[in-house]
Amino acid sequence: MPKIKLTSFGADQEVTGSCHLLEIDNYRLLIDCGLFQGDRENYLKNWETLGFDPKNIDAVILTHAHLDHCGRLPLLFQQGYQGKVYATKATSQIAELILADNQRILTEKASERNLPVLYSKEDVAKINQAWKTIPYHQEEKLTNDISFQFYHAGHILGATIVEIKIQDKIIIFSGDLGGEDMPLVQNVEYPQYADFVIMESTYGNRQHENKASRETKLLKAVQEITLKNSVLIISVFAVERTQDILKVLNDYYETHLDFRVPVYLDSPLATAATKIYREHSELLKPEVQDILKYDPDVFSFPHLNITRTSRESKTINSKASPKIILAGSGMAEGGRLIHHLARYIDQANNHILFMGFQVPGTLGHKLTHGAFDFDYYGKTIKIKAVVDQIDGFSAHADKTQLLKWLKAFKNKPQIYLTHGDQKIMEEFIPVIKAELDLNAQMLKNKESVHFN
Ligand SMILES: [Zn+2]
Repeated sequence: MPKIKLTSFGADQEVTGSCHLLEIDNYRLLIDCGLFQGDRENYLKNWETLGFDPKNIDAVILTHAHLDHCGRLPLLFQQGYQGKVYATKATSQIAELILADNQRILTEKASERNLPVLYSKEDVAKINQAWKTIPYHQEEKLTNDISFQFYHAGHILGATIVEIKIQDKIIIFSGDLGGEDMPLVQNVEYPQYADFVIMESTYGNRQHENKASRETKLLKAVQEITLKNSVLIISVFAVERTQDILKVLNDYYETHLDFRVPVYLDSPLATAATKIYREHSELLKPEVQDILKYDPDVFSFPHLNITRTSRESKTINSKASPKIILAGSGMAEGGRLIHHLARYIDQANNHILFMGFQVPGTLGHKLTHGAFDFDYYGKTIKIKAVVDQIDGFSAHADKTQLLKWLKAFKNKPQIYLTHGDQKIMEEFIPVIKAELDLNAQMLKNKESVHFN
């Protein structure tokens, strides 16, 4: 049996920067290489050395296209990696979008903070030549002894759980896990055997509201701003959350034909991602595929306006209220959302909705945790609008779902928690022991664990 060693270079006791190196004798397999996000200190970690030499990596597997999983991939190519990046087709397409957008944002931020440019457009372009796309449930051999397979993670389009087989040992990386009631993507799958499981634990201490309640909350906000003749701003992530919300609004508008409040989708990235969702209807839930037979576009409905240029975006200001604006980014870290917040957040009648987890240090986190004012290019704006959060649209499994996923294993794998705050993991580990009699531990940054 080869010697197997796992070392974490990000998202060990935090929720961003996912990067795990699996060494199997001399074969080096990297799972994800994501961006650190959040406060300044965390963000600056992106400029530190990776902690390993990309020239020595044999293969990279990308679990899904969120920035905290793919955002440092270009650094690998910049520093001499010449191998493939294995992912599903949808993940490769979304990651190309996200990385190009992120390269632009990182470059702007680097110049504001007097930092060197982290990576160039050319570094990003190299990934586009390196994809090897693999469908779900198809075994891919890396060497005679090592193979892997993707399972549905129920998280965002194309997202995977990765099962790695090394002779007779099975190691599973959960990637980011979703649940069973996501509006669009197929349900999470439940692998049944593993020797070692590396599992995310973002919501290891929380329960989400259910599907009915998240939709009710969203539509209640829509109705309230209609009555008050005011503005609803929904802070969306370009991938999954936008499409989930478009689908809910689609169902509402198409069954309430006299409802005419305009919706502005003001995020070119979200618009481009929506196109990829349309292309991959085979990855959507069976019930959504049934709807597509009579409503061929569940992301488009009467009174939806797509704004592409920043000139078009500015014209939203002059449109009469009530109106609904969907803008990115999800944690209010940039993008057109900031301008809309500046315009509308000081009026008590308006409503600002955040969807899901906000990383500490982001503006989204501050606003959902009771900030009193907001700094807009040096100008302080008082927050008077209603600021609310709907967790139910989170693409992450909650505590119950995480336990259910672990419970499906028929043997007793050793569990390693990643992608969670240390405090949450400390609470979650005894729960896993008490409820499932499984041993779990935290991974520590750059400390290796041995699987022999
Ligand atoms: Zn994710």
